Amino acid sequence: MNVMANRPRRLESYVCGRWVAGAKDGVPLLDAATGAPVAFIDSTGIDFKAVLAYGREKAGPALRRLSFHERAAMLKALGQALMERKEEFYALSTATGATRADSWIDIEGGIGTLLSYASKGRRELPNTRVLLDGEVETLSKDGSFSARHILSPLQGVAVHINAFNFPCWGMLEKIAPTLLAGVPTVVKPASQTAYLTELMVRRIVETGILPEGALQLVCGSVGDLLDHVEGQDAVTFTGSAATGRKLKTHRAIVDNSVRFTMEADSLNAAVLGLDAAPGTEEFDLFVREVAREMTAKAGQKCTAIRRVIAPRSCSEALIAGLRDRLGKTAIGNPADEAVRMGPLASLDQREEVRARIRDLSADAEIVAGDPDNPSVVSGDAMAGAFLNPVLLYCDRPAAARAVHDVEAFGPVSTVMPYDTAEEAVDLARRGKGSLVASVFTNDPGFAEEVVLGLAPFHGRVMIGNRASAKSSTGHGSPLPVLVHGGPGRAGGGEELGGMRGVKHYMQRTAVQGAPTLLSAVTGRWVPGAEVRLDGEHPFRKSLAELRIGDQLVTATRTVTLEDIEHFAHFTGDTFYAHMDEAAAKANPFFDGRVAHGYLIVSFAAGLFVDPAPGPVLANYGVDNLRFLTPVNPGDTLGVTLTCKEINPRANAEHGEVRWDCNVTNQHGATVAQYDVLTMVAKTKG
Ligand code: NDP
Repeated sequence: MNVMANRPRRLESYVCGRWVAGAKDGVPLLDAATGAPVAFIDSTGIDFKAVLAYGREKAGPALRRLSFHERAAMLKALGQALMERKEEFYALSTATGATRADSWIDIEGGIGTLLSYASKGRRELPNTRVLLDGEVETLSKDGSFSARHILSPLQGVAVHINAFNFPCWGMLEKIAPTLLAGVPTVVKPASQTAYLTELMVRRIVETGILPEGALQLVCGSVGDLLDHVEGQDAVTFTGSAATGRKLKTHRAIVDNSVRFTMEADSLNAAVLGLDAAPGTEEFDLFVREVAREMTAKAGQKCTAIRRVIAPRSCSEALIAGLRDRLGKTAIGNPADEAVRMGPLASLDQREEVRARIRDLSADAEIVAGDPDNPSVVSGDAMAGAFLNPVLLYCDRPAAARAVHDVEAFGPVSTVMPYDTAEEAVDLARRGKGSLVASVFTNDPGFAEEVVLGLAPFHGRVMIGNRASAKSSTGHGSPLPVLVHGGPGRAGGGEELGGMRGVKHYMQRTAVQGAPTLLSAVTGRWVPGAEVRLDGEHPFRKSLAELRIGDQLVTATRTVTLEDIEHFAHFTGDTFYAHMDEAAAKANPFFDGRVAHGYLIVSFAAGLFVDPAPGPVLANYGVDNLRFLTPVNPGDTLGVTLTCKEINPRANAEHGEVRWDCNVTNQHGATVAQYDVLTMVAKTKG
């Protein structure tokens, strides 16, 4: 299908394996800058119960059959395919009011999020279908009963209800962790900009990369869909607090304890440090950042700075700096390359923002920007949803309410003065929980006091100063590796956050039982589980032959004083505990000179390594190394090496093998315990 940006068309939903138009003609969606119709939207007639069932029954099993690495490879292929088609998305994005720079956040930011999850999935997750959480908990004295936590994908669907401001990123940032977890999705974009989401979903479906039903799209109302959600489903919502509250208390969500994540109105603050007076680099960075946050996406960003908290002594200079910068912002039709700020998403949205500015005016005075007479460099100021950036000043913010409660979802911020660091924290906290706050300071003491004061009330806190000025990703950028979401009025939910986001769509279960059965269930050998000693050195086995529990018990080696002195002089580590008998004795941990920990690890390798070329390709590190009992001259060491986990890499001739390495002395006491990590060939070459 050739989707043209300039021909209004009826949007379709992609449900139950096909594209369907609503039964009615649909509500017109207008170009934000010109007012011309772009599309018509309607979802009447869709059987939403069937949509959920299709996702659960058709796509759920198909996704769960894939390993994390296979799902990650799928996301990567999808990200690459979308990136190749990005210009088509940019062309249509202009109708939403977005400039090229705004669209970059939405389109390439969204695709980048997919790719970031693909890469994290491959690097940080095992090539399995189940995740382990934490270590083995031994629950009996004789080791015959243990427990470990596992995470497995929910068997329902994740319904993602999104806001109008990020039609691409909003969808992609949510489906990436969901699909990586192995859970199908139903995406419902906000109507106003749904045409861009619809276009992207068309391109996704055309690639055929996702299992059928893994991504369904509803353009228009979700009707009675929420009546049919069940305990294995999850619902996420981004939008207004009022709608969020309604959905959060929806009967089926409450009755079935459906996981509900909300990201709603957020009164994000930026704090200028007491040290950051006019003339400092931090002051200039702050002015730039506040102006950027106010004008990017015309202020329609969930993370935009709404409250500007600055030392009273700097307020005047700050307002002057911002007024100057904002006044130079070229507003107009985003199709014009000279334009730096486009219109709001719709005329209704502009009326909404103007009404909220009137609410804010109860506490604050407008010090820059006329909300009623937009000055545009291109486009029709009446037909398009243009609005000048509006800066307000609230002189007594501790006594005010509206400035901490009202989110004007547009290019609008309020400057509020403070005198002490404590006061700055108090003002920021009056937002009752936000997605993000930033602190601009070069004073470590101020940073510590303010960041620790803000942290319990925010999902993310960014510190800006001269050292990170060039590399900083800025106040407003949610990054796939970091938590996006906030406590309190920001919704009390979390999105993104790397693997934290993935785990949200999985169930954590404590599995208790005998170690051998726990090993079988989790795919990772557990101390006390059965082992296999078949006489063949496990380093001679390829991945095809190696089994979890394959074990090697080595010969022993006695550590001499000469060994310790040789190692000390050879490496240069002549720490007194190895070299000075009297000083070592005086140390509360040792009874005379001891072997170096790294000497023990080196001798252990000398005991367990099989030297000839073979399937073991490389040693790439150790995990969780602990030295548990001192080794004195005359002690005799031996090693028990057990194959703990086998992780074949997709699309490679090798995989990772994790070995449990237990080094003991002549009394059987563990002197060192760690995991050895190796790369092993899949077959003997
Ligand atoms: P809404 O809360 O009206 O809508 C958000 C999403 O919920 C849309 O997809 C909408 O669909 C859907 N929705 C609305 N009602 C229902 C319902 N009864 N059942 C199921 N889904 C529903 O927010 P908007 O997107 O219109 O934005 C309005 C305001 O929200 C903004 O002005 C801003 O203040 C705030 N907002 C805050 C954000 C934040 O993260 N801080 C992000 C975006 C918005 P439809 O569009 O079809 O009605």
